[in-house]
Amino acid sequence: MRIAVVGAGVAGLTCAHRLTQRGHVCDVYERWPGLGGQAATIDVGAGHLLERYYHHLFTSDRHIAELYEELGMPGELEWLPSSVAFFLEGRSWPFTSPLHLLRFSPLSLRSRIRMGVAVVRLQRGGTDVAPYERRTARDWIVEAMGAEAYAKVWGPLLRGKFGDRADDISMAWLWGKLTMRRRLQGKEAGQELLGYPRRSWEPLFGALRDSIERGGGRVLIDRPVKRLSAGFEIVAGAPGSFRAGHDPRAFEAAGPPERYDAVVATVPNDVFRGMLEPGLVDERYLGLLDGIEYHTALCLLLELDRRFSPYYWTNIADPELPFVGVVEHTNLVAPERYGGRRFLYVANYLAPGHELLGLGADELLARYEPGLRKINPGFDPSWVRARWLHREPAAQPIVTVGYGERIPPLRTGVPGLVLANTTQIYPEDRGTNYAVRLGADAAGVLLDGS
Ligand SMILES: Cc1cc2nc3c(=O)[nH]c(=O)nc-3n(C[C@H](O)[C@H](O)[C@H](O)COP(=O)(O)OP(=O)(O)OC[C@H]3O[C@@H](n4cnc5c(N)ncnc54)[C@H](O)[C@@H]3O)c2cc1C
Repeated sequence: MRIAVVGAGVAGLTCAHRLTQRGHVCDVYERWPGLGGQAATIDVGAGHLLERYYHHLFTSDRHIAELYEELGMPGELEWLPSSVAFFLEGRSWPFTSPLHLLRFSPLSLRSRIRMGVAVVRLQRGGTDVAPYERRTARDWIVEAMGAEAYAKVWGPLLRGKFGDRADDISMAWLWGKLTMRRRLQGKEAGQELLGYPRRSWEPLFGALRDSIERGGGRVLIDRPVKRLSAGFEIVAGAPGSFRAGHDPRAFEAAGPPERYDAVVATVPNDVFRGMLEPGLVDERYLGLLDGIEYHTALCLLLELDRRFSPYYWTNIADPELPFVGVVEHTNLVAPERYGGRRFLYVANYLAPGHELLGLGADELLARYEPGLRKINPGFDPSWVRARWLHREPAAQPIVTVGYGERIPPLRTGVPGLVLANTTQIYPEDRGTNYAVRLGADAAGVLLDGS
């Protein structure tokens, strides 16, 4: 078959690679002038590539590790010691080993012990999500760890990621976060190891593209799908369409339609909806797509002339700070990899329309400055050598109670048309590892119906 794959993120590229292995010819259409979607890189200068959004892997991320092996790049992944902190009550509290929890004095000793016991119980409590699907994370935390743990630790963290939807988030989501990411035995019991590819995520995308092209397909960047019509006719958007935003209806058509035998779309729900010819997909299915909300990731990447903190990952549990985390990439990967340069991401997740989303990089830095100074009182904007700002509208599906029953199936109801995107990753938290799995699943559903 000639198959169009819409989106050259990890799911789209993996799907096209799998379809190519089965003897089909794929054209991959991508809106952005580069590969990798949410894991895409930018050249930060001197040929160094860095993801637009902070990225690492967990040791449990076996699907992507296996893909590296399969593509002949087994040495690409490095496993590096992570360091985590919580910022609360005016200081950063290390949170890397279980001992740190015991020393975490913002919580009473009783709450600390309850929290530790509750997490260990959850992690040893089996692999069935069902008991957690019908209740909110808030409910479960207050019951298992106490109200203080919710007020001081988990509530601020959930609000950071989900804003005013925090209290509605399903316990299934938190269960996935707390149970799936880490092997709690052996070397990792004391300190977590995180994976990062030696040369960024980019070589993985290149290897997938080469595989697709060897099979006779094309990987077309800066070539979005503007319209998808019956008979699988695709009208592409003109080069530079990404400047017009995300809605395919706003793109100029690039030329006459191309016809395909099947289509796999890996774009967010609203983008998929925007490219469909009216009537092509059943209203019931479209209703499922409309029922899922996303929050936007707003990510400021700073190159600093010195180290900002001693930690790789600092969770912000202070509700006065206007961002949710600082991720100091060069505290995971040595700055020598970047010629001695240092990089810090300031992370945020915001509801659509939030006023911070309208700011430029310098305005945003000015808004963040007092918060950054609270974490490191010496911080001064003169430390900033360069900055980049990225916004990802469909970054985080909002996983509320009963989410599992509202997920749109991969099969759209139109034979030969499959949708595979981050809203279907459940109960795990979405990530590149699960995008690899989803891409393979989408190929399976299209070819075998399973
Ligand atoms: C801030 C942030 C931090 C993250 N941190 C991590 C992490 O540490 N580890 C990890 O594993 N994962 C992380 N993730 C998640 C991970 O990046 C995603 O889960 C994964 O990349 C999703 O892949 P995907 O292919 O399903 O979707 P996407 O990457 O969203 O791919 C969809 C693609 O479709 C393209 N597209 C859109 N419109 C059109 C159109 N009209 N025509 C054609 N193409 C179109 C998009 O440009 C995009 O390339 C993070 C994400 C964010 C936002």
